[in-house]
Amino acid sequence: MAKVLIVAEQRDGKLKRSTFELVGASAASGNETHVALLGQGVEGLVTELASYGANTVHVADAAELKLYSAEAYVSVLASLVPSVGAEIVLASHTPTGRDFMPRLASRLNVGMASDCVSLQFQGSNIVVRRPVYSGKATAEVEFLGAGPRLATIRANALGMTKPDTSKSATTQKVAATFSGLKTKVTEVVQGQSARPDVTEAAIVVSGGRSLKNAENFKIIEELADVVGGAVGASRAAVDAGYRPHRDQVGQTGKVVSPTLYIACGISGAIQHLAGMRTSKTIVAINTDSEAPIFQVADYGVVGDLFQVVPLLKEELKKLKDH
Ligand SMILES: Cc1cc2nc3c(=O)[nH]c(=O)nc-3n(C[C@H](O)[C@H](O)[C@H](O)COP(=O)(O)OP(=O)(O)OC[C@H]3O[C@@H](n4cnc5c(N)ncnc54)[C@H](O)[C@@H]3O)c2cc1C
Repeated sequence: MAKVLIVAEQRDGKLKRSTFELVGASAASGNETHVALLGQGVEGLVTELASYGANTVHVADAAELKLYSAEAYVSVLASLVPSVGAEIVLASHTPTGRDFMPRLASRLNVGMASDCVSLQFQGSNIVVRRPVYSGKATAEVEFLGAGPRLATIRANALGMTKPDTSKSATTQKVAATFSGLKTKVTEVVQGQSARPDVTEAAIVVSGGRSLKNAENFKIIEELADVVGGAVGASRAAVDAGYRPHRDQVGQTGKVVSPTLYIACGISGAIQHLAGMRTSKTIVAINTDSEAPIFQVADYGVVGDLFQVVPLLKEELKKLKDH
């Protein structure tokens, strides 16, 4: 059993699903599970964190934390980690976690493993696995020397546990005072899309160059909407202007680990696989039975996506309506 501190990620007062995964995994392993909740007016989120198994939630409430800033976060966490006596510190491998965790590790002068796809608690230590060489191999990482041990974990890598609303957590207020901050975030401009981000979604439906134009991506969007998923794209589709870069999956795009990844008309180039091969279940739809995507696919449909995708959508819709 370890003392684990999880840094919660919230935006506009809404906690990310990946935070619940980390809290649930830590609690399920019998750890003393602490959560750092940073923001302004966020205390109301403690109940939800408790339902996933948080024992203590350390709430840092300040105007400087209203909008995420690496400098302000690290300023709070660098003193919270030792004061809690955390042996393990976890955050999601999102753009936010990727931003502040290395900085926190440097400030604490400890090691960090990033982009982990599996996590094992071993007493006060952890063993993690992380893909290397564009996902062609997996490295197992152990920490040596004195802790705390820091790691960022990919969304969907650990799976969700069931919340239990009868659980409660202790709330500890953290005195957050800032002096000499060099940066101030004044505004966050949201993207247009109302769909979930590809890195967070449990289901991702992606399209490639074969969609031929931006309008045709409508069939991918419709399928994604039926299954409550995000829309992803290959780089070829992004370079052709069919989708914005934020949707790009792959080596130079985003790395995703959804429970279901549906690749429509994507060849499966190594740079694309680097971004999605750790998905739990992969479905590929492609006219070419020799396409490399079928080598990583759990289910494959050799066929024209313009016929298969609308059919799939209709069938899934029927299932959903029943
Ligand atoms: C440094 C570097 C970084 C890169 N980073 C990335 C990255 O992050 N992400 C990424 O995706 N790529 C990346 N690439 C590009 C990558 O190498 C491929 O070029 C790209 O992934 C191909 O995209 P695609 O599969 O959509 O297109 P294509 O390779 O052209 O494949 C199209 C596929 O659609 C199939 N098809 C055609 N018509 C239909 C139809 N009607 N129905 C069903 N199937 C059909 C074809 O059989 C084919 O398999 C990178 C390349 C380099 C050099």
